[in-house]
Amino acid sequence: MPTDFTPEPHPAPVNKHPARRSWAVAIVTALLITGVGGYASGWFVPTETTVTEVAPGVWFRKTQTKPEFIGCNQGWIIFKDFVLVIEANFPNQAEELIKEVRKTTDKPIRYVFDTHYHGDHADGNQKFTAIGATAIASENSKALFETNGIQGFEQSKKTNAKVYADLDYAKPSLYFPKKLVLDDGTQRVELLHYGHAHTAGDAVAWLPKHGILFTGDACVNGAFNYTGDGNTESWIRVLTELQELPIKKICPGHGEAADKGLLATQKRYFVELREVIGKAIDEGKSVDDIKKTIDLPFYEEWTGTNVKMNTENIEFVFKELTGAKKK
Ligand SMILES: [Zn+2]
Repeated sequence: MPTDFTPEPHPAPVNKHPARRSWAVAIVTALLITGVGGYASGWFVPTETTVTEVAPGVWFRKTQTKPEFIGCNQGWIIFKDFVLVIEANFPNQAEELIKEVRKTTDKPIRYVFDTHYHGDHADGNQKFTAIGATAIASENSKALFETNGIQGFEQSKKTNAKVYADLDYAKPSLYFPKKLVLDDGTQRVELLHYGHAHTAGDAVAWLPKHGILFTGDACVNGAFNYTGDGNTESWIRVLTELQELPIKKICPGHGEAADKGLLATQKRYFVELREVIGKAIDEGKSVDDIKKTIDLPFYEEWTGTNVKMNTENIEFVFKELTGAKKK
């Protein structure tokens, strides 16, 4: 998601899956009882931030997106002598994460890996570099950090002075073309860049010993996809390649952790979006017609949000398919 992402108000989820419906009823009832609600919520909209050890020495911080969107999911991996953090997040969430890491180990945080340049993933870099860490990203994201990244950061300093205050922008200083391996015999983490997905520089963190994949926003669990910097054709290709990994657990960029099936679900959104919009273009429909009539029931079952709500993605794919957008 971009720095200035403001989640759209989601409609109450329509749950067709009976087991899920009972969950949603329970959650909504709980919200009504506790008076926290006002909107219906569900499994696809994390309402709390949780920290879980997903494998020995591997931690996943799932970040809440409702009632307030506070940033991206993060992780950290404890090596023999140091810690690798996955996603800097916003500056205030970087501070929160450092506190959480300190509850699990006193080893130094030596690296922070940004899956991509967006502010909700990377703007907190300075909180880590200030304590001696090196920020890492894929080489294809370097130009994005140096343009859109810093522009977004400067903008946020104006609009969100409380969080950004007097921080300086800390770009990554360690870039890798396709793959960077950290392996000390206890932990192995492969940072991998497959190609243009959510941004041109997306990379993921693959932990082969545990079968865990941290995907950044190349794969999310819920209505969090932002295509503005994407390339949906290449994105589908990247997801297909990721499916070849022997994955047991996915820690996505936003939303709940899931099993490998999440890659197929994420891919299905872009495949169907392209199919439905492509067909409508062939029938001579305008983008405004498509925005009104598009229907992807599976998307609502997955995310609780009607596919029509994300008009940006519809417009983006329309432009891609009509050639108005350079690939
Ligand atoms: Zn993003």
